[in-house]
Amino acid sequence: MITPTISSPKIAMTYLPALKETDPEIRDLILLEEKREFEKMRLIPSENYASDAVKEATGGIFTNKYSEGYPNKRYYEGQQLTDQVEILACERAKKLFGCDHVNVQPLSGSPANMAAYRAVLKPGDTIMGLSLPHGGHLTHGWKANFSGSLYNSVPYELDPETEMLNFDMIRALAKEHKPQMIIAGYTAYPRTIDWTKFREICDEVGAYFHADTSHITGLIAGGAHPNPFPISDTGITTTHKTLRGPRGAMILCKQEHAEAVNKAIIPGLQGGPHIHTISAIAVALKQASQPDAQVYAQQVVKNAKALAERLLSHGFRLVTGGTDNHLILMEVFESKGILGRDASRALDKAGIVCNANMVPFDKNSPFNPSGIRIGTPSITSRGMKEAEMDKLGDWMNEVLSNIDNDAILKRIEGEVRDLCVSFPAPGIDPERWNCLYTPSPK
Ligand SMILES: *Cc1c(COP(=O)(O)O)cnc(C)c1O
Repeated sequence: MITPTISSPKIAMTYLPALKETDPEIRDLILLEEKREFEKMRLIPSENYASDAVKEATGGIFTNKYSEGYPNKRYYEGQQLTDQVEILACERAKKLFGCDHVNVQPLSGSPANMAAYRAVLKPGDTIMGLSLPHGGHLTHGWKANFSGSLYNSVPYELDPETEMLNFDMIRALAKEHKPQMIIAGYTAYPRTIDWTKFREICDEVGAYFHADTSHITGLIAGGAHPNPFPISDTGITTTHKTLRGPRGAMILCKQEHAEAVNKAIIPGLQGGPHIHTISAIAVALKQASQPDAQVYAQQVVKNAKALAERLLSHGFRLVTGGTDNHLILMEVFESKGILGRDASRALDKAGIVCNANMVPFDKNSPFNPSGIRIGTPSITSRGMKEAEMDKLGDWMNEVLSNIDNDAILKRIEGEVRDLCVSFPAPGIDPERWNCLYTPSPK
């Protein structure tokens, strides 16, 4: 059990007053998480900071309302306002991503994939996704997941030389196995995805093209990565990663699959949608269509490239040699003699939060793999730029050269906190926390 040590008078007086009254234990844990997110450099590429506007909607009154069904076709009365919320969310998504149909009801990315597959596939059909150890997602055909047991999964892999997608290999595998669906979009792939190549291969073998942009949807919205949805048959995205919305998901598809997709969600998989979440998705979509979302997306990529350069200059090996997007996959075992988990734990102690990750063709186990995965979406949301990436790269090098030296880790933790204090995060009022720290000279 964590013992909270929060002494900020501002927090004690005014923040989360109802929780303070009702459940101080949970309130303290929420406060400590906010403090953690304020003072750490968060580098998990699937995480971000939701804006105050998104959080207000997520915590709003629509949490009280049941609205099974779809706008103008609900099972219960009292839907005058829920219909408007859901229609706004769908219209904004369709406009932003240029697709025929959007369903904003999936509770998260995994159920969204489940429903999208169910809409167009039969059990036993063959699917081809990137294998999990090469950067694919669990729901793209991993054996222990529904996607690998309900469907005949024939995973493709990365090129052993370049560690990138190799379309000759993917085409050959598709011609051999004649899948009903090919899935593109990944959780640990640092390069731009050429969606048109997947479209071509799918057309050659008569497969549906399913695009899962969960990680990069904010980059797509901001013009920093190509958009698959005008050419994919079906697709999904989570809404809480680079899109910076609430935890949730959407299915995006061609008109011909609209009805099947809707039926796959309800009655196929879910009951009532989370309209409070959908209201916050609408807010995130509005924010993602503003000009500053373009600036954000470009800066996420610039920061990842700058950090990659700095890490390379310290002698680390990066999978594929660098990055085009928001993430870096860094090999630490062969190049530095450290296991991924030891690396991520030491970095966490120093206030730099990332995750251990498999690298392609990893010889170590998934529980202690050879790499770490690093992303710039959260720190870019705080306004950090190339200069801060240089500092971060230097800190990471120092930590990974001293993983057992607690004094050094502690010193860096303090330096990281000083930096974070001067880059307030969206959705966290710095006034609540600044009083805990001596202001850093700037
Ligand atoms: C995160 C992610 C998902 C799953 O999302 P959850 O909300 O965690 O279920 C699916 N596909 C990809 C590519 C992802 O990155």
